[in-house]
Amino acid sequence: MSLAQYANRFVCDLVAYEPGKPIDETARELGLEPSQIVKVASNENPLGPSPLAVTAMQKALADSHIYPDGGGYQLRNAVAESLGLTRDHVVLGNGSNEIIELLCHTFLNRDAELIAAKHAFVVYKLMATLFGAKYIEVPDPGFIHDLDAMAAAITPDTRLVFIANPNNPTGTMVGQEAIDRFMDQLPEHVIAVFDEAYFEFPDSPPDTLKYIREGRNACILRTFSKIHGLAALRVGYGIAPPHLAGLLQKARQPFNVNAIAQAGAVAALADHTHIAQTKKVNAEGMAFYEKAFAERSLEFVPSHANFLLVKTGDGDRIFRDMLKHGVIVRAMSSYKLPDWIRISIGTMQQNRRCLEELDAVLAS
Ligand SMILES: *Cc1c(COP(=O)(O)O)cnc(C)c1O
Repeated sequence: MSLAQYANRFVCDLVAYEPGKPIDETARELGLEPSQIVKVASNENPLGPSPLAVTAMQKALADSHIYPDGGGYQLRNAVAESLGLTRDHVVLGNGSNEIIELLCHTFLNRDAELIAAKHAFVVYKLMATLFGAKYIEVPDPGFIHDLDAMAAAITPDTRLVFIANPNNPTGTMVGQEAIDRFMDQLPEHVIAVFDEAYFEFPDSPPDTLKYIREGRNACILRTFSKIHGLAALRVGYGIAPPHLAGLLQKARQPFNVNAIAQAGAVAALADHTHIAQTKKVNAEGMAFYEKAFAERSLEFVPSHANFLLVKTGDGDRIFRDMLKHGVIVRAMSSYKLPDWIRISIGTMQQNRRCLEELDAVLAS
């Protein structure tokens, strides 16, 4: 008899999320120093964390014996103020991934449906599965979310529609017109979730905040993991009208975001220098890869984020062979893209090294 028979079937059915391969693990396996490894696999900030955040976190460490502010007073105020909203619109999460889980906790059950695009961020599917809900996958021609088709897929059982904008792993973005048309069609039993983990990278992202101000059934997800460089701290947030934010607050653990992360996030939010530098380095790296791929006639998906999807053929082999040379990229077979790899934009030094190894591996 296996214990699994007594477990929740939805948990047993889960296929675990496969994260980017860690630097230390790769260094151990190759017998190299961690400093010799280039990891461009998880869309992390190549400039590191906001220095202002690091200072704030070092200071906060002295109070590690005190439980964090479970209400997240300072961070929620800081986020709200940066958006021209009030604190009751902001829900903090242990990474914005936790807000995805809170939404599912709050709205999904065995009769409910979640709608997402075919090449959307995988965590939506994992969470839908965990809650026993039906996951509806809508085709995304040209790797761009087809919001009209997603609206047409809504049924009386639909509760959540996830729109990752820009999307990971494709880097594509839907524009204002498509979003407005989608919101015009949204029935009142459905919540539109705009996952904006890469919101800070495009120059003119569409305005979804207006739907929050209007009190619509919408939730925006943002994170400190990407542009602010605090991925290790696990802190993100949801922005929603108070009637929705209040429900999500009920579903979370009392101290879901630790005090160090809260202190770091408050400081990072105000670090406009670090944000501007990160955008600059990203734009430079993006231009470098676009030119390089064009010269090599490698197909790629033009990206609005801090990573690129490039068609190399046999992505699993490319990943493995580049790994042997200490460069960690992301294979895309788990995203139904076996011929593609995803490369995060690094520093120019990292970009050059990555391209060199990619060239070598493609030639072998
Ligand atoms: C990275 C990412 C997130 C969230 O990451 P957290 O570290 O949990 O905040 C959410 N959505 C997308 C699409 C992402 O790429």
